Amino acid sequence: MFIAAFFRVVPNKLGGILTTSPSVDIENNFDVFRKFQFMNLWIIEADFEKDFMKITYFCVFFYKFNLCLNKVKVLFRSLVGIDQVLEKLSTVIDPDLKKDIVSMGMIKDLELNDSNLKFTLELTTPACPFNIEIEDDVRRVIGEITEVENFDLKVTAKVMEGRSLEDDTTMKTVKNIIGVASGKGGVGKSTVSLNLALALSQTGAKVGLLDADIYGPSIPLMLGMKDSYMQVEENKLQPAISNGIQVVSFGFFAEQSHQAAIYRGPIISGILKQFLVDTDWSNLDYLIVDLPPGTGDIPLTLAQTIPITGILVVTTPQEVASNVAVKAIGMFEKLNVPIIGVVENMSHFICPNCNDKHYIFGNGGAQKISDQFNIPFLGEIPLNSGIMSGSDTGKPIMISNPDSLSSVAFRNAAKNIAGQCSILALKLKEEMAAENKNDETAPEASTN
Ligand code: ADP
Repeated sequence: MFIAAFFRVVPNKLGGILTTSPSVDIENNFDVFRKFQFMNLWIIEADFEKDFMKITYFCVFFYKFNLCLNKVKVLFRSLVGIDQVLEKLSTVIDPDLKKDIVSMGMIKDLELNDSNLKFTLELTTPACPFNIEIEDDVRRVIGEITEVENFDLKVTAKVMEGRSLEDDTTMKTVKNIIGVASGKGGVGKSTVSLNLALALSQTGAKVGLLDADIYGPSIPLMLGMKDSYMQVEENKLQPAISNGIQVVSFGFFAEQSHQAAIYRGPIISGILKQFLVDTDWSNLDYLIVDLPPGTGDIPLTLAQTIPITGILVVTTPQEVASNVAVKAIGMFEKLNVPIIGVVENMSHFICPNCNDKHYIFGNGGAQKISDQFNIPFLGEIPLNSGIMSGSDTGKPIMISNPDSLSSVAFRNAAKNIAGQCSILALKLKEEMAAENKNDETAPEASTN
C-alpha cells in the first residue's frame, strides 16, 4: 500500500517519495511541505531544522494510517548534499602542496545519487609520496557522512606542468624537465638518473631519459642498448625505447660519439638543443636529463635554452664531492633555475651478514648541502655491488632486482622528486595567475 524511497539530493534537507495510495490523500493533506507530483509518485521535501514541527505532524498523520513508526523514520532519513561532501573533502590537505584537495581541483566526476557517492581523486602525480595517506583521508572523511551508504572511489593521477609551456613552443609534449647535475664525475649521476627514470615510470608516469653527457654517454651501456640506434622520421629523432622509457643518447650515434672529445662549445650546445627540441618526445610527464658533471657548456645550455622544472643534485657523502656540488648549485641559482633537491648516492653500505650500516665515505655531505642552501634532501642510495654490476651488464637494479633495498631507496627518492616537481608546478601556476591578474589590472600604457 505504501512505499517510501529517497532520491532527491537536497542539502541539509529531508526528502521522500511516496506512491499515491488509495487511503492517503496526499494532495490535500500535505500542504505544509513543498511537494510535487511526478507521474504516480509524490515527491516531498522538508528542511530538518526549520520544518521540525511539520515533520512531526507528518509522522503523526502516517501513524494514524497504521504505518509503523519504523517506516516513518525511514521515510525521514536525511539526504546528503554535494556541498556537504565537498565541505568534508576540503578538510583533506595534500601534505606536499599544503592545499586542500578540493581547491586543488583533485575531485573529478563527482556523482551523488541518493546515498550513493562516486568520484575520482586525481592526484598531481602517480608517484605522489602521499598517495596512500590522501586516499585514506578521503575514505575517512566520507565515512563520517552517515548518509552515504555506497562509496565508489577511483584514484588516478594527472601530472602537473612544472614548466611554462606557454613560454616554450618547442617542447610542448614535455610537462617536466629535470636536469640531473653533479659537481664531479663518478658520483653515480648517470646510475641515479637511469634508476630514477625507471622508478618514476614504474609508478605509471610517462618518462624520457636524455643522456646529455655528450663526451661520455653511458646510458646505452647501462640499458644494454649498445647496438641500438635512433631513427629519424619527418626530421624528428625517434627516441629508442627501453623498459617503457624513451631514451635519447649521443651513444646511439656510434661513429660520431667517438669524435665527441674534439667537439667544443657551440657544437656541443647545438647537439643538446637538437636532442631536446628535435626529438619526437611522446607526451612525457617527466624528462630526466643526465648532465655531464660540473658547470660546462651543456648544463649552461640546458638552463638557458628552454624553461625547465629544476635541477636535481647528486652527490656522495665525502666533502670533496659535496664541496664541488656546491659550485654547480651556485651556477644554477645564478641562472634562476630552481633546485629540486639533493640526492646522496653511495650513502652507506648495508652489510649483508649483520645488516649494519657502514658509512664508508663518511656521512652528512648531502645533508650539509641541504642545510646550507635550504633545499630538500630527497633520498639516500646505498652502496651496492648489484647497482654496479647491473650498470655494467645493462640490467639496472630497478629492473633486475626491484625488491632490493637499493630499489626501494630509488623508489622513495623518485616519489620525493615527483612531490617536489608538483610543488614547483603549483608555484609556477600561482605566479602565472598573479602575472595575468597584474596584466589585466595594469592601466594601459599611454600612447602620448
Ligand atoms: P657519473 O655519472 O657520476 O660519472 P656513474 O653513474 O657512471 O657516475 O657511476 C660510476 C660508477 O659507480 C659506475 O660503475 C656505477 O655502476 C657505480 N655506482 C654508482 N652508484 C652506485 C651505488 N650506489 N653502488 C655501487 N656502485 C655504484
